[in-house]
Amino acid sequence: MKVKYSSKRKWMRRTALTAGLLVTYPLILLGIEYSASKLLFPKIKTESELQQVIDKRKEKLGIKENIEGVLFSETTGMQGIASSGEEVICVGGDLATQIAIDHELYHRYKRDMDLSQKLTIKEKIKNIYIEEPRARIYSLLGIKL
Ligand SMILES: [Zn+2]
Repeated sequence: MKVKYSSKRKWMRRTALTAGLLVTYPLILLGIEYSASKLLFPKIKTESELQQVIDKRKEKLGIKENIEGVLFSETTGMQGIASSGEEVICVGGDLATQIAIDHELYHRYKRDMDLSQKLTIKEKIKNIYIEEPRARIYSLLGIKL
């Protein structure tokens, strides 16, 4: 009897731990990536420097098209199509680093959804639990999932 009770508790604890990890892993990856960007990578200070980093890093993913870099003063990281029709990557503040550029380039490589679009709940969940973690794993470890 005692063994059965204890194994049930163990099972419940494991289930709770697994569920907790499934819900929080996107946040854990976000924290690791942001900290790495803020603490480990030199800040890009000019748009010409930003353009050089984008042009060099996009080769790793086989992206041939021109992607223009836009440097912001506030902390930001995004990619998409500008109103001019040009592809852009915008980074700034703590995210003006190579790691954030790799993250945005990976979204471009995978043709992930642009968050400026109106997303359905299903698309938002896909973005939070699949696209963002995938881009973070690439930016942190260089692994293409
Ligand atoms: Zn992202």
